[in-house]
Amino acid sequence: MSSRDFVDLTSPCEHVAETTLRHVTRPAAGCEDCLKIGGRWVHLRYCLTCGHVGCCDSSPNRHATKHFHATRHPIVTSAEPGETWTYCYVDDAVLSA
Ligand SMILES: [Zn+2]
Ligand SMILES: [Zn+2]
Ligand SMILES: [Zn+2]
Repeated sequence: MSSRDFVDLTSPCEHVAETTLRHVTRPAAGCEDCLKIGGRWVHLRYCLTCGHVGCCDSSPNRHATKHFHATRHPIVTSAEPGETWTYCYVDDAVLSA
């Protein structure tokens, strides 16, 4: 079951201005980049700037972090059900209280 969930920005940083998404569907269907190469993931992250879905740093390919390095899109949120936290790569900080 998936649901339209809010993105927790109770403790925002200056980079929040560069993002557009405030609600996401959890869970995400899968890591876009892993699906292309037949890879596997552990957890998924949404990019709040463009909606890209990538896998976390516990996953072999770490596509969410690679997406940040490729695009400089600063903030991701969890794509896991029941998790609403957001994270800024630039500040290395969680943006929820
Ligand atoms: Zn930031
Ligand atoms: Zn991936
Ligand atoms: Zn992005």
